Amino acid sequence: MASEPHSSRIIDGPIVEGQIVEGLWRAPGVARAKPARLSVDTTGIASVGDAQTGEALSSEAFAKLSISDRVGSIPRRIDFADGSSFETRDNDGIDRLLRPYRGPRSGLVHELERFRPRLIVFVALVLALSVGIYRFAVPVLVEVAVLATPPIVPQLMSRSLLASLDGTVFEPSGLSQERQKSLADGFEKLAALTPRGLAALTAPDHPAYTLNFRKGGPIGPNAFALPDGTVILTDELVDLANNDEFVLGVLAHEIGHVEHQHSLRQLYRAAGASALIMLIGGDIGSGAEDILVQGSALLSLSYSRSAETEADRHSVELMHKAGRDPRAIGHFLELIRDKLGDKEERDFLSTHPATPERIAETLRYADEVAGKQ
Ligand SMILES: [Zn+2]
Repeated sequence: MASEPHSSRIIDGPIVEGQIVEGLWRAPGVARAKPARLSVDTTGIASVGDAQTGEALSSEAFAKLSISDRVGSIPRRIDFADGSSFETRDNDGIDRLLRPYRGPRSGLVHELERFRPRLIVFVALVLALSVGIYRFAVPVLVEVAVLATPPIVPQLMSRSLLASLDGTVFEPSGLSQERQKSLADGFEKLAALTPRGLAALTAPDHPAYTLNFRKGGPIGPNAFALPDGTVILTDELVDLANNDEFVLGVLAHEIGHVEHQHSLRQLYRAAGASALIMLIGGDIGSGAEDILVQGSALLSLSYSRSAETEADRHSVELMHKAGRDPRAIGHFLELIRDKLGDKEERDFLSTHPATPERIAETLRYADEVAGKQ
């Protein structure tokens, strides 16, 4: 399609008349150019005349002239047999003269040039669409991926994460068997009241909730839930709370994160659109593997404020349903605020900021659920 910038074409065909093109003319072997006009008369002879004096400079049958192709807005050059040349930026003028000889065909670069305004609009649309995909499609993809996730994925993710924590930071719990038993019983009763826990009671292969006691070491006072329902409670948190009702309030909060599938959502949000598309498409090879590898990132992800609010409300409702104190999670938050202040620690507090608003709202909601308002 596009030709070399200065490839030439010998015109051979019918005659064009009555057109004048402004440009510059150079005598053979002379560098300096003078303003000139090119015209074609009724007999088909192309003549170049001095723009000021009208003096005839070169003339030749137009059909025999060698004319450079149109390339973007580069000036066109016309070579005469006598060695002189005529150069013009009036590409359209030359095209008008050439049209009867060439038909509608023109260079690719020229096409792009003409296309530019539409091209800019097109590129802008593509960019806007990409931004749109990230702002609006990712949340949708996350929801689809959560629905499309087979139970084995969170199970594998949780199992490998717990194994790696056991190999690095955790020590076996130092809590007495009686203390563990009483907390585990309370936890089981809470779990059995949730849709997920209830399903596990009737369908043996359905993922259930499990409570794991560990000495947290560097993780300190902490409790967290993995996406398959594995809940981990550190001795340090049990000691800090010094009240098993508060601990159960915290566990009910963690169960809330699992019921609402917060960690899976958070993980998928961090994985990005391409990994999600592969996962949804069933490409276990790369998409799911990427996400599984990022399972360890679960610990460093913190939930959004709205996810925390949801888990707090879940704790209030679940504790009330179980006939326990719905204010327990609120009181626990007050406790960590008073005991830990705003120490910069990587513990339950750093991922669960006990802001005054959060405490007030949780206690208010507990009163509402308990029918005190
Ligand atoms: Zn939480």
